[in-house]
Amino acid sequence: MIRKRNLVFLGPPGAGKGTLSEVIIRDEKLVHISTGDIFRAEIGNGTALGKEAKAYMDAGKLVPDQLVVDMVAARLAKEDCAGGFILDGFPRTVAQAEMLEQIAEKTGRKLDCVVLFDAPYDLLIRRLTARLTCRKCKANFNKLFAKPKTEGVCDHCGGELYQRADDSLETAQNRLKVYEEQTAPLIKFYTDNGLLAKIDSSLPRDRAYEALLTVLS
Ligand code: AMP
Repeated sequence: MIRKRNLVFLGPPGAGKGTLSEVIIRDEKLVHISTGDIFRAEIGNGTALGKEAKAYMDAGKLVPDQLVVDMVAARLAKEDCAGGFILDGFPRTVAQAEMLEQIAEKTGRKLDCVVLFDAPYDLLIRRLTARLTCRKCKANFNKLFAKPKTEGVCDHCGGELYQRADDSLETAQNRLKVYEEQTAPLIKFYTDNGLLAKIDSSLPRDRAYEALLTVLS
């Protein structure tokens, strides 16, 4: 069992945060909180929050901090997070990280580790533009590196695979630019407070997972 359980997965889109989250929650009882997944569910359900988030997401821009932070604060306060959680895709700005410190203090959910998923730009673009996502269980596949057994069908639940609208080349490039400008400053933020650990997420999935378990043990 891993020792560090209150976690942030930090890194550019396509680095494998969601994929390794799926893998680790099969072995460890952690709550996976993906802000992107929550927004996509809100959009699917046609809620006011979903409608507000959609325009930003379609353009590859960040949703305003306060909307995201309120959503995460409500989720972290739930009892099931007491045994550990993964924040995947949050925080994405220094302002969000500062607000997370306040939430953590209020809810008693102090972070144990921030894992930086590191991978080169070209690989990120190739992964994002070839990514396929399951409509039902949200599992990720890839037309180049991790094909499903049957084309268009999820190996895990039989759900339909689709390409996310924001995984088009133009939007993927824009999301990586937004990452560099707004999210990469968090590397210094979490290095300075001693929480940062780095893994090489250009490795094949199994080896990246081993590296993840090592930094969390
Ligand atoms: P993801 O699935 O993590 O790649 O997120 C997809 C999109 O959701 C992002 O491109 C943003 O538009 C939005 N989003 C997700 N998490 C955040 C966040 N922490 N702050 C702002 N926008 C977010």
